[in-house]
Amino acid sequence: MSQICVSLGRTRHSMVVAEHQALAQRGAELVELRLDWLSKAPDLGRLLTQRPTPVVITCRRPADGGRWKETEDKRQALLRQAIVSGVEYVDLEEEIATKIRRYGKTKRIVSYHNFSGTPNDLEERYGRMCELDADVIKVVTMAQSPRDNVRLLQLMEGAKIPTVAFCMGEFGLISRILCAKYGAPFSYATFNVDRVLAPGQISFDEMRNLYRYEQINAQTEVFGVLGDPIAHSYSPRIHNAAFRHDQRNAVYLPMRVPAEELDETLEAYSWLDVRGYSVTIPHKERAMRLANFRDDIVEDIGAANTLFRDNRNNWYAANTDLDAALSSIRMGLEMKGDSELAGKRVLLLGAGGVAKAIGQGVLRAGAALTVTNRTKQRGADLAQQLGCQFVAWENRGAAYVDVLVNCTPMGMYPHMNETPFQANWIREGTVVFDTIYNPESTLLLKEARERGCHCVSGLEMFVNQAAAQYQCFTRQAAPIDVMREALRKGISAVRSAD
Ligand code: NAP
Repeated sequence: MSQICVSLGRTRHSMVVAEHQALAQRGAELVELRLDWLSKAPDLGRLLTQRPTPVVITCRRPADGGRWKETEDKRQALLRQAIVSGVEYVDLEEEIATKIRRYGKTKRIVSYHNFSGTPNDLEERYGRMCELDADVIKVVTMAQSPRDNVRLLQLMEGAKIPTVAFCMGEFGLISRILCAKYGAPFSYATFNVDRVLAPGQISFDEMRNLYRYEQINAQTEVFGVLGDPIAHSYSPRIHNAAFRHDQRNAVYLPMRVPAEELDETLEAYSWLDVRGYSVTIPHKERAMRLANFRDDIVEDIGAANTLFRDNRNNWYAANTDLDAALSSIRMGLEMKGDSELAGKRVLLLGAGGVAKAIGQGVLRAGAALTVTNRTKQRGADLAQQLGCQFVAWENRGAAYVDVLVNCTPMGMYPHMNETPFQANWIREGTVVFDTIYNPESTLLLKEARERGCHCVSGLEMFVNQAAAQYQCFTRQAAPIDVMREALRKGISAVRSAD
């Protein structure tokens, strides 16, 4: 089992001691004490005498991303002193590994950090590091591309000396976590989300509870969401909650991939044997072309939000957004006692990607569609493309409709006092579907409810599209209530952190 090593960097000894105790109470089993962060000369006795967990002692120079201000001689003397004190691990950069000798039971982590990139000669360097009497080799580089993750993870395959290798930066998150799958004895996390000591580090809680790092092993199946940006995606919360509930040995990761790097990244990630991807902006159109097979609906819409392996291990492209949106509208119609969408008059507010997909779905279901949009030309273009009615934005209140769908961000957090449709325009009995899921109850939905309308939140669409993806990925029914709850909790956690 791979462990989580929590890095502690504080300026005061008292804070290091207090946080170390707190971490032990939270279940941490290994803690890195970053001596270079202390503002006064490090007092090892104070930090180590009653240490509640095994420790890694590290003292970084600025060149390696640290804050040590004293001389190099003093730094090395401190590291020797830590070894004599019998600490469990000491971190020695590769250049000083031969200068500081093995003594007692202290294990030697021989490390290499590169904050500017992942050098071409990484593999040769790793070979040299293997000659430095290491118990653990640590290699950490800045990912300049998502593919760098694979190079780092490959270092660990067949390693003769236990090795921790991962990338820093937002591209690097996947290797921080997947290093457990390739045999790393531990990976690093921070005390909490506000205490990031190196770019891209994630918190102990996220590592343990969101990604279940300590359960990851060679058999763990890998899934993820491809997008750019991706850091704020709720999909990892939802899918990992479902895996946990189903006790499935699988992990789902946010995978930031720039638009122009999708093809090369997927090729490189084939080494990771990823079993399925959710796909979001800007990759939905390109992802569809990269699959060997696709649903008819994907061909029609020209976009996929899901890539998964079929029974023969081919890549299959699906679009679960559309069904999820249509079932949300049908849910509203059912509240009214009428689930038939055919023949209903639907008004779509907005002409972006979501409006286009929902417009196509609504027309396929036989409804009469009208599109309206703030920017007239874009709305008129979409209406022409779909072959439906267009109404000017300023006249949208006059349209007589059975179903109103908001596909604009008006009313989305933090602009919760906005609405795309004035309250006095809303007719009693209308089905109102707002694609926004944060907040779950937008001003539009609140006002529509007050007028006796049948309302559905975008949260249902989001959960339904994720549940359908889960079914594609695992070929089993999704625990949809667990996923809905995970999304609600995620939204409120992010809001309370703001
Ligand atoms: P998009 O392609 O950027 O399109 C945004 C649309 O909203 C455009 O028509 C834009 O009009 C309009 N708009 C933007 N700001 C506006 C404002 N202040 N007033 C009036 N109109 C405005 O975005 P998208 O990908 O289609 O996403 C649209 C919405 O769908 C998002 O806001 C999100 O809440 C929701 N969504 C929901 C889910 C789900 O699963 N529930 C998933 C994805 C997205 P212009 O043409 O004038 O710019």
